[in-house]
Amino acid sequence: KFDPSHFNVDDYKHKKDGKGLKYCLIAEAFDKIDALKGSGSSSKKMSNAILTNLFRIFIVHCPGELNDAVYLCMNKVAPDYEGIELGVGDSLIIKAISEMSGRTEAHIKKDAEALADLGQLAVTSRQTQRMLFQPEPLAVRKVLESFRAIAKISGNDAQKRKKDKVKGLLVASKGSEAKYIVRHLQGRLRIGVQAASIFSCLGQAFALTCPAVSDEDAVGDVRRKSRTDTKELNQRLTAYDDAVRAAACECPNIDIIVDHLIQGTDASELPDKCQVQPGLPVKPMLAKPTKGISEVLDRFSECNFTCEYKYDGERLQVHVVDRGNDLPDIRFFSRSSEDLTTKYPDVESAVRELLKEETKCCILDCEVTAFDVESKTILPFQHLATRKRKDVNEENITVKTKIHPFDCIYYNGQSLVRHQFKERRECMWKCLTEDPNRAEYAKFKDLDSMEDVQAFLDEAVRNHCEGLMVKSLDDHATYEPSKRSLNWLKIKKDYIEGMTDSIDVIPIGAFHGKGKRQGVFGAYLLAVYDAQGDQYETICKAGTGFSDEALEKHSQTLKEHIVDQKPTYYKVTDKQPCDVWFKPVEVWEIKGADMTLSTAHTAASELRSDSKGIGLRFPRFLRIRDDKNPDDATTSEQILELYDAQFTKKKKE
Ligand code: ATP
Repeated sequence: KFDPSHFNVDDYKHKKDGKGLKYCLIAEAFDKIDALKGSGSSSKKMSNAILTNLFRIFIVHCPGELNDAVYLCMNKVAPDYEGIELGVGDSLIIKAISEMSGRTEAHIKKDAEALADLGQLAVTSRQTQRMLFQPEPLAVRKVLESFRAIAKISGNDAQKRKKDKVKGLLVASKGSEAKYIVRHLQGRLRIGVQAASIFSCLGQAFALTCPAVSDEDAVGDVRRKSRTDTKELNQRLTAYDDAVRAAACECPNIDIIVDHLIQGTDASELPDKCQVQPGLPVKPMLAKPTKGISEVLDRFSECNFTCEYKYDGERLQVHVVDRGNDLPDIRFFSRSSEDLTTKYPDVESAVRELLKEETKCCILDCEVTAFDVESKTILPFQHLATRKRKDVNEENITVKTKIHPFDCIYYNGQSLVRHQFKERRECMWKCLTEDPNRAEYAKFKDLDSMEDVQAFLDEAVRNHCEGLMVKSLDDHATYEPSKRSLNWLKIKKDYIEGMTDSIDVIPIGAFHGKGKRQGVFGAYLLAVYDAQGDQYETICKAGTGFSDEALEKHSQTLKEHIVDQKPTYYKVTDKQPCDVWFKPVEVWEIKGADMTLSTAHTAASELRSDSKGIGLRFPRFLRIRDDKNPDDATTSEQILELYDAQFTKKKKE
């Protein structure tokens, strides 16, 4: 029922001439969403309504800042692939609060411990400050620009300059603004709103607000029209919601998407306008785990499918960008859209040399593995893990690599996302000439009997692969960016052997080592990510699987991320009295025996009707996943699925 054209926007105009809106509009929306926490199943609906209305206000009154508002809600300052992160530590924020309030850092630290929320502390500290002159209110654009500037500050006195900028923002803040500024800086808004919901709200905001146009008078005219036909409105809501989410998967740049919407691009046209483009990373399609070949055959009983080797390396999206008469640009992106071009100069040389003349531009989905040229074998992932993440010099490379393209997302000017896998594979084969030492398409067989799949799985494992990927060929076989799809199934040898799949967890706390482990952390408390509540829930305490060097290395790295007290977004029982707590920074792959209900752990407890947590027994550390961010770790929902799957598997046996 909200009508943005009746919204009293004058209170929120940053300047009298109406240019730009105040940041407090966003802070107030965050406050409302925050207040809904714990109010049950309706809270998601309500918080989506608040965000949708917030975006509608921008569409009607300040369309030029809508993209800024979306960035702030996402808590991002730039597209992921630009690799610009705010990265401001608590100690710098404490310094800024201390200087702003005139109280010592020790006092601020003590209060922060008691309050368990630095953001709230910034608010109270700001309120007790009397100002001779009232600073200008914070504008949406100014806040985002300041964040961008803070992220880019480097050099000698970077910390001081960053602190001064943070202080400037805090001094100018009013009401709860300081709370969210601090949380933006800490990298976690903690209002429980996920990127997918933000895109969905953005779509709905356009569906509910008549097509926006850049001409301000026209906006005034169209916004008065009311849409009373509920059926039409519902269709519009679904169409825009789907269109914006689809656009966001293919086009990782908020500015481009918002720009098209503001220009009046209709839902039906948006996905075409925001198609994948070489040079911009696409969110990768993900696979569902299966527990055996029979499950795969059940799933694909009605359609044609293919089995491919599942290589054990790093996912690499290879982009070949057409530069006309110049050489094509070649760029690589990781699973989480990080630019990995300078990590793989050897792959760049290989692609450049092996690119077929007919291919002007393309995007290939590949796995890169460590490869021993002498014995012609793929080496375990650990070899690849020794490589630096950036600025590798090709001449110094000791561990050779090989790429295994398995999909083609774009070919010579055309996005293939909505094409069936069979066609995409045909295009893929047109891209590179194979080279046994540097590039070979994923080995595949189109099979249909249990015995044949088993034989191919054995062959894959003998050839140092993790198992098989099984994919639908021509029925429901489009490329589904960022989706964990039933049209891609993974069979790993481990879970056929009766073990659970590995999971990706975040070390959130640690216990000091004793005896032989004196001086390093002896065990870690590990957590999974609860995406709904935007919090971390513990699943196990692990002290095995670590070599002495690994223990040393983890202690060194994680010591840098110790926080004074357990963050409020960690859900931990009192059975886990960690000696230190860390910020969520790393993702570790671990493996265990099985999962049980546990009173010591909290994983998936919000999702179970009895509120019991799930724990992983006998966990063992496998490796660091530096291609995943903490929010890409295994989610509580996946843990519940894995837990439940144990029983279906036992029943089948
Ligand atoms: P996920 O990516 O599904 O979150 P994960 O990163 O732990 O999980 P796995 O469970 O091992 O990865 O399986 C999926 C990954 O397998 C892909 O992301 C890709 O990196 C890799 N892979 C290797 N071979 C293939 C192939 N032929 N087709 C698709 N993916 C493959």
